[in-house]
Amino acid sequence: MNLETAKISEIVNSVQSNKISAAEVMQFFLQRARQWQDKTNAIITFNPEAEAQAAKLDAAIAKGEQVGPLAGIPVVVKDLLCTKNLKTTAGSKILDNFVPPYSSTVVERLENAGAIVLGKANLDEFAMGSSNETSYYGNVKNPWSLEHVPGGSSGGSAAAAAARMAPLAIGTDTGGSIRQPASFCNVVGLKPTYGRVSRYGIVAYASSLDQAGPMANYIEDVALALEVIGGKDPRDMTSANQAVPQFSNIQKEVKGLKIGLPKEYFGEALSSEVRSICEESIAKLKSAGAEFVDVEIPHLDYTIATYYIIATSEASSNLARYDGVRYGHRSEDAKTLEDLYCNTRAEGFGEEVKRRIMLGTYSLSSGYYDAYYLKACKVRRLLQNDFLKAFEKVDLLLSPVTTSAAFKVGERISDPLEMYLNDIYTTSTNLAGLPGMSVPAGFSSAGLPIGVQLTAPHFAEDRLFQVGKVIQDMQNVADRRPQ
Ligand code: GLN
Repeated sequence: MNLETAKISEIVNSVQSNKISAAEVMQFFLQRARQWQDKTNAIITFNPEAEAQAAKLDAAIAKGEQVGPLAGIPVVVKDLLCTKNLKTTAGSKILDNFVPPYSSTVVERLENAGAIVLGKANLDEFAMGSSNETSYYGNVKNPWSLEHVPGGSSGGSAAAAAARMAPLAIGTDTGGSIRQPASFCNVVGLKPTYGRVSRYGIVAYASSLDQAGPMANYIEDVALALEVIGGKDPRDMTSANQAVPQFSNIQKEVKGLKIGLPKEYFGEALSSEVRSICEESIAKLKSAGAEFVDVEIPHLDYTIATYYIIATSEASSNLARYDGVRYGHRSEDAKTLEDLYCNTRAEGFGEEVKRRIMLGTYSLSSGYYDAYYLKACKVRRLLQNDFLKAFEKVDLLLSPVTTSAAFKVGERISDPLEMYLNDIYTTSTNLAGLPGMSVPAGFSSAGLPIGVQLTAPHFAEDRLFQVGKVIQDMQNVADRRPQ
């Protein structure tokens, strides 16, 4: 077995049948992770217990104990998900000293299935960003080209999966943070339906949009991981009471499937390179028997404005808890309570986070609530209706993930609006609560990865895997690794 290209199920089978030990698997990936860490800065904290936990699993297997469907799989978890006794920073100075007393449901389910946390992935501060340049712990570099960003906010998770620092990574997606970095790094990235995966123990950015999901080299791996992390959680009332199908049993045929092409996604903003990669995937899917239908998402133009009002409003409320009193950074130089709040927040938050707290506070303030927040909520419904209408005609949608391949480090960070515009094709999925996935589909002339986005009706992630698998098999880029 070649651990550089093996699918998760192959590794798990080998571990379960004693062909390789979990300790050996961990050593292989730790060594790779350390090498790539120097180049990419993908990880904020390595788990000092990773090797001991692998040895413990081996001992359990030797005793004949039953182990789960991810037995011995090293996983890199975005540092937004709480991990018991392992520092969780959210990419922020304000949580630099935060060691959670409990694990998020996602991490708990991964561990119960036998996965072992290798490290905590770097990210944009509080998941606010599209380039991984707002992290307090330094920017992440794209393993395909160190001058380029890996995307964001789950840039560390994407870089780690792409460079095969681990066969599985977990990201979160509020407006594209799994799909966009997946596209920039040649990995599969799934944002599940809102409510499919518990948000318990995940540092909240925008609660009505946030969703955690898997990132990996292969569709099969992502499908398997969703089986493990998905499902109702009594500790998150927004988690849905929906059965989790056997996603890893992927249907092979796409014959007769109707795929919609939303015309607004193929407008002038789209670069010719991304367009031609989408066209290649469309042609291949046609040859496999899928049928393509033009559809419309007429409110797409309002997506960015709507998203950045709703997301910042929710963020301004969620981030109110960082006050220096209960946990995290506390300003040393404060004489009054008011000083303590102000100085702690001034010292602890970065520029982008402060900008968003101010934007959100403004939208929610009494004089502007109706004009901004309430209006954005209404537009959100219109956008969702656009999708539901499109799904009356088609089974799923195919579109670009971003307008272009990865951009250069430093290129957009000084212009927030330009950075926000980057999210034009991804934020609508979150506003509508739909599942979306980026699938590796090709490379630009400069050798940078480009993914294609699939979007399905609520809780129909199985269709994403079905179509994604055909793209994976026909485009033949999933085995490529950065050198
Ligand atoms: N780039 C978007 C933002 O900055 C999306 C981030 C995310 O999905 N977490 O809000």
